[in-house]
Amino acid sequence: MNLAEQIKQTRPFVIAGPCSVETEEQTHTIINALKSEGKTQLIRGGIWKPRTRPDSFEGIGEQGLPWIAEASKKVGIPFAVEVANAKHVELALQYNTDVLWIGARTTVNPFAVQEIADALRGSNIPVMIKNPINPDVNLWIGAFERLQQAGITDLTAIHRGFSVYKHDTYRNVPTWEIPIALKQELSDVPLICDPSHIAGRTDLLLEVSQKAMDLNYNGLMIETHPTPEKAWSDAKQQITAEVLTELLTKLVLRSNVMEQRSFDELDTYRKQVNALDCELFDVLVKRMNISEEIGRFKKEHNITILQEEHWKKLLESRLQMAKSLNLSDDFVRSILDAIHLESITRQISVMNK
Ligand code: PEP
Ligand code: MN
Repeated sequence: MNLAEQIKQTRPFVIAGPCSVETEEQTHTIINALKSEGKTQLIRGGIWKPRTRPDSFEGIGEQGLPWIAEASKKVGIPFAVEVANAKHVELALQYNTDVLWIGARTTVNPFAVQEIADALRGSNIPVMIKNPINPDVNLWIGAFERLQQAGITDLTAIHRGFSVYKHDTYRNVPTWEIPIALKQELSDVPLICDPSHIAGRTDLLLEVSQKAMDLNYNGLMIETHPTPEKAWSDAKQQITAEVLTELLTKLVLRSNVMEQRSFDELDTYRKQVNALDCELFDVLVKRMNISEEIGRFKKEHNITILQEEHWKKLLESRLQMAKSLNLSDDFVRSILDAIHLESITRQISVMNK
């Protein structure tokens, strides 16, 4: 059975191991611990580390390959390493690596992905493709196509979030709609969540993993280290093998198939949602018709569309109203921004007719 099939049959399929392979001892210690916890189906270990700044630890390189290969062979669990160029592919294959993955900083670059695809031609090794660092679903899909065209068909997607400039909560914002969009295009490809790189901290790992499970993800890739606080890379987000077990035990796994009775019940809610969406659209049409009236008025009186003071006041009062109705600030803000933008577009079209 190929890896994608295995992943789909084990829920959650757990990929665990250190961010970076550091020493022979660290590699054996973490892999033995993962084996004795008994929850890991595939071991991960970074050999070459694409780091943002050049003064960070950039991976132990080729000398780490026999360490991870031996340690994983000893416990009988296959292992995966990240490859970013043809040389990495060649070395990884030389050491009988079971699975390769392409990192976020590589998926973003079609030349690099093509180089890897070309280097893999003729092999049938499974490859996991992380999302690109920017939220571009087509770039992610493009990477799948490049590998498929090179004859590599055992493919899996890993969602690790997207880069932003400073964020209060996440290291990489999840933007869940991107992996959902990927699944619409590539429905056969299993989807793994990497909560470690999304969260960047350990206290959010469970919450992100749970959300992934509730969105029907097939598995999780979680960075684990024998002594996380001493890790040479990504120390803040790594956990021990024991903590990984605790986390997995707390996960609630819900089914995505329903009995007819539950389906009927859900269906009555769905019908209500449909009716409410119709009402919403009705209101939006009325709202936009008024915007066009306003546009005509402004044209007649020769005044600009954007009245900043008015918009500011309106926003404040709506946010106040939302608060009392228990609607979140972010939610209401994004709706109002969208309405405002459309309203401006309508007014512009009326004015410049
Ligand atoms: C990693 O898995 O350690 C890694 C470098 O991740 P990403 O490509 O998601 O940044
Ligand atoms: Mn890492």
